[in-house]
Amino acid sequence: MTARTLSTDDLSTPAGRIATVRRLATSVVRDAADDVDRAGRFPAEAIAALRQARLLSAMVPAEQGGYGARLDELAAQCELLGGACASTGMIYAMHQIQVACLVRHGLPQPFFRDYLVQLSEQQRLIASVTSEAGVGGSVRTSISPVERGPEGCTFRKDGTVVSYGAEAQDLLTTVRRAADAPASDQVLVLTCGDQHQMKLTGTWDSLGMRGTCSPAYEVRATFPEAQIVPAHFADILSHTMLPFAHVLWGSVWLGIANDAVARARAWLRSVARQMPGQTPPAAFRFAEVSAQLQMMRALVHDAARRYGALLDSGDRNMLSSVGFGLSMSEVKISASRMVVEIVTAALRVCGTNGYRNDSPYSIGRHLRDAHSAALMIGNDRILSSNAPMHLAFKDEQ
Ligand SMILES: Cc1cc2nc3c(=O)[nH]c(=O)nc-3n(C[C@H](O)[C@H](O)[C@H](O)COP(=O)(O)OP(=O)(O)OC[C@H]3O[C@@H](n4cnc5c(N)ncnc54)[C@H](O)[C@@H]3O)c2cc1C
Repeated sequence: MTARTLSTDDLSTPAGRIATVRRLATSVVRDAADDVDRAGRFPAEAIAALRQARLLSAMVPAEQGGYGARLDELAAQCELLGGACASTGMIYAMHQIQVACLVRHGLPQPFFRDYLVQLSEQQRLIASVTSEAGVGGSVRTSISPVERGPEGCTFRKDGTVVSYGAEAQDLLTTVRRAADAPASDQVLVLTCGDQHQMKLTGTWDSLGMRGTCSPAYEVRATFPEAQIVPAHFADILSHTMLPFAHVLWGSVWLGIANDAVARARAWLRSVARQMPGQTPPAAFRFAEVSAQLQMMRALVHDAARRYGALLDSGDRNMLSSVGFGLSMSEVKISASRMVVEIVTAALRVCGTNGYRNDSPYSIGRHLRDAHSAALMIGNDRILSSNAPMHLAFKDEQ
């Protein structure tokens, strides 16, 4: 770690932590981004820097050794990291979503309280295994059940897309409650260290988000019953996992859009310097993309603000409501479309200088990363689940 990446900020305050993430984003994270993308490798130096600032436990309450960060702060951090390296931003976002599920639904149980202390002390990284061969991206369906035997609980699951599975210490996995339970009766299980074995069953040579390193694995685990998160999975999903995902993923995508537009602006200024007194023709297109970016910022920041206020209020009825679920998934649909539109428009402004991989104005990585947004829980899948709800839902705003 170089001296310039070491934090001099007060990490006990949200502003200090955001300043630290900003500095890391503009140094170690950005410096590694092209190599991470080209090699399709885990951004080890970026995650090490975040670990050193103890940010893997950003959301853990102070009583368990974390910073007790709120949603809006995490969203700001994801936006900064996503602008520097989308894979790093997405890994950080996915880890924080897992931590949020444990903080919000596990804390009443001594096992999870102790685990969060260990996570803070050791800066453990958690990966997620919700996808499963046979159910695609349906988060509300599990084939693999928990089996109970003399040595405790076990499961065997074929995870189709497991980001940074090879690098994470711990896994949060969705499984069926028991062999005789329906596919929708799920539980969320935390397994740590050598409680699980992961056999690589696929590869990850992807268009974008290459540094997330997300191949398929067969996961086998043996664990005590106490490591099943005590709340109903339907509540964990609708109150925490999905809204956190939609806000933090949206923030990473906003970061990608911010950086693409910043590159287009830099290109435009370099052109303007060569034609004093004139406005470059592409400035017209830039004015348009800048307006689109403002809309995306408003959408994502507003979602973070609204969900953050709801978390503060603790209004479980509102968190369970159809209106809240619809509005959060619609933020995901819109943000995932906007990022591709904005990055594509920024590419048009830059022309071939944006299209080339060997230019400071290159936007190729941004465009490839942006196309993952519509697939992370397929937009068509979300729209087809939302469609029947609109028939009954009364939007009283
Ligand atoms: C960068 C990245 C990282 C990821 N990391 C993880 C991870 O760490 N852990 C994890 O568990 N998963 C992860 N995923 C998986 C992800 O969240 C989705 O679950 C997965 O991408 C869905 O896979 P699919 O598109 O092949 O399947 P499907 O969701 O089945 O989609 C296949 C196609 O069918 C369409 N479709 C499916 N159902 C319907 C429907 N009902 N109506 C209309 N159309 C439908 C979809 O829109 C899509 O076009 C990651 C994905 C990406 C892109």
